[in-house]
Amino acid sequence: MNTPANLSEIISCVSGYDPNAVPVAQAQQIIRNFVVPVQGIEKLALRGALGRVLAQDIVSPIDVPQQDNSAMDGFALRGADLPAQDAVTLKVIATTLAGGSAARDVQPGECVRIMTGATMPPGCDTVVPQEFTQGGGDSVTIPAGVVRPGDNRRLRGEDLAQGKPALQQGKILRPADIGLLASLGIAEVPVMRRLRVAFFSTGDELRSIGEPLDPGCVYDSNRYTLHGMLTRLGCEIIDMGVVRDEPAALEAAFRSAAECADAIITSGGVSVGEADYTKQMMGKLGDVAFWKIGMRPGRPMAFGKIASENRSAYLFGLPGNPVAVMVTFYFFARDALLRMMGAQAEPLPSLQAVSHSAIRKKPGRTEYQRGILSIEPDGRRLVRITGAQGSGILRSMSEANCMVVLGHDQGGVNAGDLVDVVLFEGLV
Ligand code: AMP
Ligand code: MG
Repeated sequence: MNTPANLSEIISCVSGYDPNAVPVAQAQQIIRNFVVPVQGIEKLALRGALGRVLAQDIVSPIDVPQQDNSAMDGFALRGADLPAQDAVTLKVIATTLAGGSAARDVQPGECVRIMTGATMPPGCDTVVPQEFTQGGGDSVTIPAGVVRPGDNRRLRGEDLAQGKPALQQGKILRPADIGLLASLGIAEVPVMRRLRVAFFSTGDELRSIGEPLDPGCVYDSNRYTLHGMLTRLGCEIIDMGVVRDEPAALEAAFRSAAECADAIITSGGVSVGEADYTKQMMGKLGDVAFWKIGMRPGRPMAFGKIASENRSAYLFGLPGNPVAVMVTFYFFARDALLRMMGAQAEPLPSLQAVSHSAIRKKPGRTEYQRGILSIEPDGRRLVRITGAQGSGILRSMSEANCMVVLGHDQGGVNAGDLVDVVLFEGLV
């Protein structure tokens, strides 16, 4: 991976930078300017490309549909034969089915019984749906005013014309895209290789599942939430377990992660003033900035690059508190990882909802409160905060279906005010 600049160069372009008071938007900007996409493309069979990042633009090799065809079951006719008033009776000269051969030329006064998807007979430009007609053996009667000339005809190439862009590089392929590629007859798709992300937890109080929970200890949950969030992003995961807060163990972990991964995510050990080795080792092995971010939860965070002998990897040193890990992942790491994956990283989709209660908040930091969004009987979106909002209370995340985002400059919220909400559902 080549980076265009080192971190300090990027930071030096930011006006008013203070590592002890970094607004969320500034941290996001620095991260965005620093990361670059990985190289490497693989070709996958169409179905296997779901959720992957398209590596090249796809241009349509054919017209879809290939011919003008009918959008309805009914009768194909010349638009000029539609009656201006009363009704007209036309001679039915043939029936044409989807996939069947086109009928012969249709003359004035004639029509063809046609099924949805069948090719329009030469001379016809209009289809009258069956339900508007009477008769239908050798002849059919069509009343005035039911359709206009050109109605119910799908035009050749109206879905995609040959040579026109069908999908853009960087798109994360969704089911509709896979279907679209199938409609073009494309069997194999070039996608970006998966991003390799190594992660570990730090902290001597952490125990892994299966170990006894000694007094004063907690089970390591961050590796599990990280595993889930990274899996949803479609990353290749390297779970390095819990690393003790010991220089040799940390150095070995960072070096081996930098050797094999594109990005390293750690949790814990980056708090300001914390007398531990995680921060020291990050500083020793890499080009890393330590930030106090103007946000709640998730104030301390480290970001930069860690080098091994042969290569380097981006580092996200997330805070230790379980809610802070998730919030910093979604609002900093996610966007960066998508960029590294070569994806068009769209901002998290947000919507507005009415706050059920007043929320206390000081301007000068961004707050992410866990909320439950519901639709009221009158159709209004209402959001309630999920009780205690401590950054260690993972239950508040689990109970929530969204995050209420209170912006940097925003003050307190009154009950009934509109607030911004980011939904968990559909979040990758
Ligand atoms: P730290 O940032 O290392 O000071 O950690 C802050 C808080 O998060 C402490 O209460 C830690 O015990 C807790 N914590 C850190 N890492 C984890 C983890 N992997 N799983 C659960 N809790 C953690
Ligand atoms: Mg710690």
